Amino acid sequence: MTILDGKRVAAAIRTELKQQVAELQSQGLRQPCLAVVIVGHNTASETYVNNKMKACEEVGFRAIKIAFENSITEQQLLTQIALLNQDKDIDGFIVQLPLPEHINESKVIQAIDYHKDVDGLHPYNVGLTALGLPSIVSATPRGIRELLARYQIPTEGKRVVVIGRSNIVGKPMAMLLMQKPYLSLSQTASTQLGDATVTLCHSKTQNLRDICREADIIIVAVGQPCLLTADMVKPDATIIDVGINRIEDPHAPKGYRLVGDVDFQNVSQIVKYITPVPGGVGPMTIASLLQNTMQVYKSNL
Ligand code: NDP
Repeated sequence: MTILDGKRVAAAIRTELKQQVAELQSQGLRQPCLAVVIVGHNTASETYVNNKMKACEEVGFRAIKIAFENSITEQQLLTQIALLNQDKDIDGFIVQLPLPEHINESKVIQAIDYHKDVDGLHPYNVGLTALGLPSIVSATPRGIRELLARYQIPTEGKRVVVIGRSNIVGKPMAMLLMQKPYLSLSQTASTQLGDATVTLCHSKTQNLRDICREADIIIVAVGQPCLLTADMVKPDATIIDVGINRIEDPHAPKGYRLVGDVDFQNVSQIVKYITPVPGGVGPMTIASLLQNTMQVYKSNL
């Protein structure tokens, strides 16, 4: 069994980006700039945002955090988005999800200029991705694609099962892997990905176990610890665990620890490749956000 080490691959991507930023600056060009909007004090969201800020600083991007209290109105948030859309010094920005209930997430996402939508969530970018055209791809699926490519795990003709049909992970992931082959955006990976036979599963899927047992690659994005168990996988399968779940643990420094959606201890005994949680998809998502920002920056040169 090989661990797909997202932490290591993400570090390699950050090193590549850092070199690109240094080259840009040696040509007298400005740094790429990412802005992150956060509303309220959701602890997990604050951690994700801080990690994104830290990653930007590491690679030499300018990072701007714009924080609002929960009491912000939808209209005030939309006004802020309009300002970011117009700001020529900001290449891309994201609005950290989830938003408070009184704010319509879909309305907010649609207000973002799709050229600056580095989370790849705007309907225009999603549409381009669905059509197999160049687009800003949602960060988590892009990170998973990159991870598969860098470990040279082929997808052509493979049976892929994606569990979870969210707009940010499951749906775009399925769309990417079912496309006709495209070259990875990675500079180093040569593997062509796509051409998979994809099955998308969700809470109403029947016989999930039997469907998974046929799969060469399983991508789980549900948010339930131990959803994927050892009896659901075949030997030699590749398992990508997107889930992030907090489990109470009085022995852990923070009183909890993070686990994925996969019964890692038992599934890892059987399969060929598997991502750990933490240290798998999470760091790749942040690295992809940086890559998306660089992609937008370069398209504006
Ligand atoms: P959502 O929480 O939006 O949706 C969960 C999906 O799982 C739904 O499609 C739901 O089906 C499906 N589901 C629920 N129960 C089952 C079940 N028993 N069997 C099969 N499918 C089921 O998904 P997200 O993609 O937003 O998040 C999923 C997980 O991934 C979360 O733990 C989240 O924290 C994590 N995440 C991690 C990221 C990373 O960078 N590592 C990035 C984004 C998310 P239905 O549609 O029928 O309700």
